[in-house]
Amino acid sequence: MRRYFDMLAPAKLSPSCMCDAALCCALAVTDFSMTYMGPVYVLVGMALILGVSCLYLMAIFMPVYASQGLPVAAAHLALGGFLLGNILFNYVLCIVTPPGTTAKSVREGYHLAAGMNVRFCKTCRRAKPSLTHHCHICKQCVLRMDHHCPWVHNCVGFYNHRYFVLFIFYLCLGSLYAAVSMWNRLVGPYPLMQPRVGEAMILAFAISASAAFALGVLFLWHCYLILTAQSTIDFLDNWKERRLCAKEGLRWHNPHDHGLLANWKEAFDAQGRFWWIAWGLPSLRKKQGNAVQFVGSPTPPLYRGLPVSSSARSDDIDSMV
Ligand SMILES: [Zn+2]
Ligand SMILES: [Zn+2]
Repeated sequence: MRRYFDMLAPAKLSPSCMCDAALCCALAVTDFSMTYMGPVYVLVGMALILGVSCLYLMAIFMPVYASQGLPVAAAHLALGGFLLGNILFNYVLCIVTPPGTTAKSVREGYHLAAGMNVRFCKTCRRAKPSLTHHCHICKQCVLRMDHHCPWVHNCVGFYNHRYFVLFIFYLCLGSLYAAVSMWNRLVGPYPLMQPRVGEAMILAFAISASAAFALGVLFLWHCYLILTAQSTIDFLDNWKERRLCAKEGLRWHNPHDHGLLANWKEAFDAQGRFWWIAWGLPSLRKKQGNAVQFVGSPTPPLYRGLPVSSSARSDDIDSMV
């Protein structure tokens, strides 16, 4: 946090400096909350998931069981249990799985990038493969870093990206299912509820419906990034490079893009005949690969393609923090 106050040191109290000061304070508060309030975010997230689940059991499942019988109630329970199981599994795995750092892959990275201009992290004092960025909250370089997520108190990178995307996928489906079930309960031909239960259900419906919409947008965004082999951090740099190329009449090509299907399989570590279902199923297997060599293709390593030293990409800025 000290670096933000260092930035303020030469400031005089002019209007523009006041704006800078406000921005620095906002950044400092964000940094502080991301660094020290992570466990609180995780507890809040877990409490919301379990709270809506408990309300579902009491106010949805029991009336359905009473009015429509065991088969319908069992089908609801199986679907709800499947969604909740996948939500919790991917949430916990995303929290506890290290995203991957440069410590193990640095030697291999040098080997693969022999003769090329390798980027270097000034903070970690290690070579950085392409798509690796330094996280100043985790205080390490993260392989194929997507972003630092306060809700999982962890960076989302090479080894836990799959769990993060599946977490928001199943959370979106679970929220949608909860919202539809609660709406049916609120307007359906069921016995009247006590006022307090009714109010709690209206609140839970509002939370579930809002969460389903926001998570749906977020999931579609990550689908686009995965299919086009981009991370959230790299998207802006790629967009700028695409615009620069377009101005010069050139067509920009992402050197990490191996095609929609190959990108999808690689991101979810789903190979083989049953990849089309395996991508969404729970898996404890450590992701294949090392974030340097593209899995499933003997050709180009991820180092290839990027002009690493000349362009001022965001990771160069990261390395200064
Ligand atoms: Zn670093
Ligand atoms: Zn981080």
